[in-house]
Amino acid sequence: MTTPDRRNARSHLFYQTDHPRPVLDRAEGIYMWDTDGNRFIDGSSGAMVCNIGHSNPHVLDAMRRQMDKSTFGYRLHFVTEASEALAAKTASLAWPGMDRVFFVSGGSEAVESAVKLARQYALAIGQASRWKVISRFPSYHGCTLGALAITGYDSLADPFLPMMQVMPKVPAPRAWLDGFNPDDPATGRYYADLLDQKIRAEGPDTVLAFILEPVGGASTGALVPPAGYMEAVREVCDRHGVLLIHDEVMSGGGRTGKFFGAQNWTAAPDILAVSKGFGAGYVPLGAMVARGDLVDAVLAKGGFAHGFTYAGNPLACATGLAVIEEIERQDMMANASSTGALLKAELTRLMDRFPFIGDVRGMGMLLAFELVADRDTKEPLPPALKAFDKLTEQAYSRGLIIYPRRSRGGYAGDHLLVAPPMITTPAQVGEIMDRLEPALAAFAKECDLPTA
Ligand code: PMP
Repeated sequence: MTTPDRRNARSHLFYQTDHPRPVLDRAEGIYMWDTDGNRFIDGSSGAMVCNIGHSNPHVLDAMRRQMDKSTFGYRLHFVTEASEALAAKTASLAWPGMDRVFFVSGGSEAVESAVKLARQYALAIGQASRWKVISRFPSYHGCTLGALAITGYDSLADPFLPMMQVMPKVPAPRAWLDGFNPDDPATGRYYADLLDQKIRAEGPDTVLAFILEPVGGASTGALVPPAGYMEAVREVCDRHGVLLIHDEVMSGGGRTGKFFGAQNWTAAPDILAVSKGFGAGYVPLGAMVARGDLVDAVLAKGGFAHGFTYAGNPLACATGLAVIEEIERQDMMANASSTGALLKAELTRLMDRFPFIGDVRGMGMLLAFELVADRDTKEPLPPALKAFDKLTEQAYSRGLIIYPRRSRGGYAGDHLLVAPPMITTPAQVGEIMDRLEPALAAFAKECDLPTA
């Protein structure tokens, strides 16, 4: 590959990183090209967003058709065919009774909306004492101050502590790290009991809701809940009259093999937040989906005091509908399961060669591997090594994009998400591995880590 274009290193734009990045020219399917003609495999679907791949012709057509009709109608002035249709379709994909949909433009907005609906519901039914939203540590629920207050990721929250009401946390069910058997239902019950204890310690009549990512995203690295956990958590919430919110911002949209990640288990939430794969990178789009009786109670008391200007705009909604149509037409969720299983097997095979891969986890096309200094003790690599940065760059220079994150709450430990679009074929899994394996070998050499 030629050297990435560094023109944008000191542009007027600024983001989180000073890493110079190539200039994106075009993208199609699972591939992206920069303006120098270098091709990249989008091995993380951006930030687990572009679930159906880039430049899907059916979606682009639907966007053009909607643009010819209207691109904006303010929600207090109009409903639109597109927003009505997407709401109905989304409700049909959720659990029975979860039939009310509120549109937003992203994940943080969806989470904020869920939390605020929960609070207004408590007020509507005369439970004003309930305001605490318990979440897990680590977790990621968004970057706005409300979503950050429930995010379990200290380094992101610390600068803003005086400005927000930090909410109580319980440990995420990281069975691998904690040394428990994830297939034993006692493990799920153990972590759900920690929630029960937390609710009791806080005072059940002060606890409004519990929020969790059904399949973990960037914070835990594709954490799949241990056996029995999702059901046990539902029971605990019911016992204390606490609402259960599922943050499906990353796990929703099909990449776990079901449209909502929690549909891999039996327990339903009361409210859920979805984004990322919902607009699939074509438009900024998200939604909160809620139990009808919650919404009715809030509306009966004067309405939901909340809303974003761009919510439910017809262009975003027409696009979201076309995304779901394509997921169904191409049976992408089935492919996410079968090709995802192949990809997971390939990642697991890498553990034979690279002892510093401590764990491979996830489901469907939401997969991750975690780096360790010692596989037995699970001791992380030293933070000063900046392993996730180095490995990501090694992959990047070979034309493969993967998603890095410090796990374990931002203290130590690195995991990398491998989450290509749901349209990835078995042959393309081979292309990913042809880049990832040499990247790992080069990374091992660079960091002086042993290989087998
Ligand atoms: N929740 C989860 C689980 C997420 O993964 C993210 C984004 N990484 C968010 C919320 C926030 O979404 P956004 O960045 O679109 O605001």
